[in-house]
Amino acid sequence: MRAFEGEPAAIGGRGKDPVNTAMIRHWCEAMGDGHPAYTGPEAVAPPTMLQAWTMGGLSGHGDGTGRATRYDELLGLLDGAGYTSVVATDCEQEYLRPLRPGDEITFDAVIESVSPRKTTKLGTGHFVTTRMDVRADGERAGTHRFRILKYAPARRPAAPAPAEPPTGTATPAPGPDGTASSAPTTAPRPRRPRPVTNRDNEGFWEGVARHRLLIQRCTRCTTLRFPWLPGCNACGSREWDTVESAGEGTVFSYVVMHHPPFPAFDPPYAVALVELAEGVRMISGVTGVRPEEVRIGMPVRLEFQRVDEDLELPVFRGSVS
Ligand code: ZN
Repeated sequence: MRAFEGEPAAIGGRGKDPVNTAMIRHWCEAMGDGHPAYTGPEAVAPPTMLQAWTMGGLSGHGDGTGRATRYDELLGLLDGAGYTSVVATDCEQEYLRPLRPGDEITFDAVIESVSPRKTTKLGTGHFVTTRMDVRADGERAGTHRFRILKYAPARRPAAPAPAEPPTGTATPAPGPDGTASSAPTTAPRPRRPRPVTNRDNEGFWEGVARHRLLIQRCTRCTTLRFPWLPGCNACGSREWDTVESAGEGTVFSYVVMHHPPFPAFDPPYAVALVELAEGVRMISGVTGVRPEEVRIGMPVRLEFQRVDEDLELPVFRGSVS
């Protein structure tokens, strides 16, 4: 595996389109990012679009030779060893200069590292990190590091047996001691997924632990923001403090989940986009009313729900008028 480190994953790649205002506009609309730097005659591209300019789309880049790259070889080798599943784990970008409409994008990518075998909750496999160096008109513009885990999925526990056989059919099979087996054992209930905490949002979860719903506030322009982000979408400032929500809100929109089933949840249940009185919106569960009673505009009030011994979540209690 180590022999692949430093090997090329792409050489002399070319962006399919130069940096252009149409793709920038679509990106900003999809992201809901109205920052003024991305429009007008002096527009720059949002830095996080870096990878978008290098993507080959459905048809790929296709160098016409049909040759497999060293990256393809590596993935083939991992497939052959049984690590047939893949999940993208994380991405890091570094920005060296702004991209502007008209810039022609070229890039190279190398296989930066292949980890020793690791066992994760998903299964056992290898992390593969590639680094793409992106240039604009031949000048270094940024770096895009991308990490995947190629893994063999962990065995899932067998599905639990039905609680009771249909009436009048099979009798319980004798146990090892010749007696009929006792009632089927029930598998422990799967735990709710844990929230992902990182340096950008840890303050939010510290607030939750103290039963406070904290909203970030830009200390330069006072714009409130939620969910938590490192910078202000209105002015770009990275300075912020927090305000505590009073906990009053209304249902801005909602869905009632029936399918697909998630093991730790009991469908049907309502998930709402709650508009807090402070003006920001957050996604949360709705309690206190039946899912079919949830309505747009319904007043809701914050409460904290203990899910298990080490998870508490902010939820919103609805009330039927
Ligand atoms: Zn601001």
